[in-house]
Amino acid sequence: MDTDRLDAALTAALEEVEPDHSGETSDYLDDVAGRQRDGLAAAVCTVDGHQASAGEAEHAFALQSVSKALTYAVVLEEVGLDAVLEHVGVEPSGEAFNHLSLHDDGRPYNPLINAGAIMAHALVPGKDAQTRAGLLLDRYSAMAGARLEVSEGVRAAESARADRNLGLAHLLADPGVLPIEAREAVDGYLTQCSILVTAPQLAVMGATLAAGGVNPLTGERVLQEWVAEQSLSVMLTCGMYDATGQWVAEVGVPAKSGVSGALLGAVPGAVGIATWSPRLDERGNSMRGIGIFERLSERWDLHVLRHR
Ligand code: GLN
Repeated sequence: MDTDRLDAALTAALEEVEPDHSGETSDYLDDVAGRQRDGLAAAVCTVDGHQASAGEAEHAFALQSVSKALTYAVVLEEVGLDAVLEHVGVEPSGEAFNHLSLHDDGRPYNPLINAGAIMAHALVPGKDAQTRAGLLLDRYSAMAGARLEVSEGVRAAESARADRNLGLAHLLADPGVLPIEAREAVDGYLTQCSILVTAPQLAVMGATLAAGGVNPLTGERVLQEWVAEQSLSVMLTCGMYDATGQWVAEVGVPAKSGVSGALLGAVPGAVGIATWSPRLDERGNSMRGIGIFERLSERWDLHVLRHR
């Protein structure tokens, strides 16, 4: 599809969902406060590097839980599949993202809910918090093809209400399976949640996953092919919290959502898609983001399980 047609399709989908102001925002966070409550942006990047965007494409928002999928990819790449699987499973939990439970084998269910994401963060190689955050920023930036940074405001807001995440980290630390100290794992996880992106940058990250690990803009191989495949598999089965089954049935695109209203999707061999709209449904997924994905999936025939 050429860029003009991509632009027109994206703009149409955005205009259709724009009037919907239902859902609540997570208002303790700096980046969704005030007028940003009704912000809206969408962007796509194809695996051959065509880009389009609509809405507030310049606005930078925190990745929040979208970072869980990205850190999972980074640790797979850095420490390998076996070491990662030893610490965190790949089963949907059917529970809310911050549920205080582990699988009965003692591992967090999957890396896309908080317990698993804290564990995945703890697997990032590095002698201290700064080294681990630096590695993640480097790898995320390579996926985005742009230099990304952490929002100190979001990070401070997150640290101020980290009790539940600390509870999860202590659950993991108790049997001695958390490789680093609980507080450090939570701080590092919240730092990765606070990395800022624009919708176009996030779409390029999706395109890197969709292209088997090669950033279509820079040509850099950021992830091995199996890493992209493993990450997309877990996004498909676990990426939308306890609404993932319905998401797969209706949209059929590997995806990951975040409490900032961010939503990242990647269709293997085709396209990365990103939306940002802070009003969330009761599962914590972006209302209008879902609306845009539903439209694009249908109009561009993106459902990965469709018979072709
Ligand atoms: N920072 C949030 C938390 O862990 C991320 C949650 C999310 O995006 N759903 O509490």
